[in-house]
Amino acid sequence: MASLCRRAVFQACSRTFSTAPVCGKYRRDQMPDPMDLATGLEKRELLAYQSGNDDPFMMKGIIRGPGTKDQPNEVPSAFNSRIVGCICEEDSTSILWMWLHSGIPRRCKCGHWFKLVKKTPI
Ligand SMILES: [Zn+2]
Repeated sequence: MASLCRRAVFQACSRTFSTAPVCGKYRRDQMPDPMDLATGLEKRELLAYQSGNDDPFMMKGIIRGPGTKDQPNEVPSAFNSRIVGCICEEDSTSILWMWLHSGIPRRCKCGHWFKLVKKTPI
């Protein structure tokens, strides 16, 4: 039994490994460019920033317009619903949150109307 354990340890230690730089265009003490390492959603986000879109996920606040039933405030979303927060009065210290669903305009308690508008994802 002891010889089996020694053999297993010996075999594990005898494995070789080699190291190589991630990419040949960087010096050893230099970090690679994040654009070269990013994949998937992170890569699309970085590409959006590079193309000049500083809000790829539409997270910035929207200034309300007239907000009437005929001209509701348009809220962009890539999904069928989105949570919207309304600061009903300028000096208000609280935000009134509500769900907004596609195709159903919704009126806040302060009287402003909101409507979900489809937007293609980044
Ligand atoms: Zn409101």
